Amino acid sequence: MAHLVLLGPPGAGKGTQAAELAKETGWAHLSTGDLLRAAVRAGTPLGREADGYMRMGLLVPDELVLGILEERLRAPEASKGFLLDGYPRNLAQAETLAGITSLDHVLYFEIPNELLIERTTNRRHCPRCGRIYNLITRPPRQPGRCDVDGAELLQRSDDRAEAVATRLSAYGQQTAPLLDYYRRAGLLRTLDATGTPAEVTRRARSIVGLPVRAREPL
Ligand code: AMP
Repeated sequence: MAHLVLLGPPGAGKGTQAAELAKETGWAHLSTGDLLRAAVRAGTPLGREADGYMRMGLLVPDELVLGILEERLRAPEASKGFLLDGYPRNLAQAETLAGITSLDHVLYFEIPNELLIERTTNRRHCPRCGRIYNLITRPPRQPGRCDVDGAELLQRSDDRAEAVATRLSAYGQQTAPLLDYYRRAGLLRTLDATGTPAEVTRRARSIVGLPVRAREPL
């Protein structure tokens, strides 16, 4: 049972690691980006409102994000623990979260800026199962197709260069101040987010106190 926040810039690998840790532990992977994208796809009023902000790489207004997250945080699936991926992203959200739940660790994905552009622009995902690929470091076995279910891989509209630049600047201005906030609260754990996904998983596991296997499956 653990309450974790995954904090770091776009492209740092939060989604990939959250999925991996969730699979092993049964903790709920709560990605506000995924929840918002699902609302956009479903064409809900909230999704329609969020869509424009997301395409541009801007943060969606706090109350919209909270609206989709809060019920998930309180749902039975999160009772065994959760990995919050993409929330909070500013101080107001951090304070709201503190009013809803306690936290055990805030994992800060530390990574040089130049790697982020490369990771985001080469990222592809499977619309059917959600698996994330990187054309260079984690390519699919068959070009353009998901290894799991063969669906055609897609690129997120905000992973194109212009939106990535806006997202990086939103991160620097609005999200990076959370590092100090959580450091002062004694919750911040810095994770070296460079290297292969398996290497990062091994480091993350050791930080959160899960048994570290001698070798990760490839
Ligand atoms: P992500 O998948 O975490 O990179 O999020 C994709 C986009 O969803 C972001 O660029 C924002 O537009 C929006 N978003 C996700 N989480 C939040 C949040 N906590 N606050 C505001 N906007 C968010």
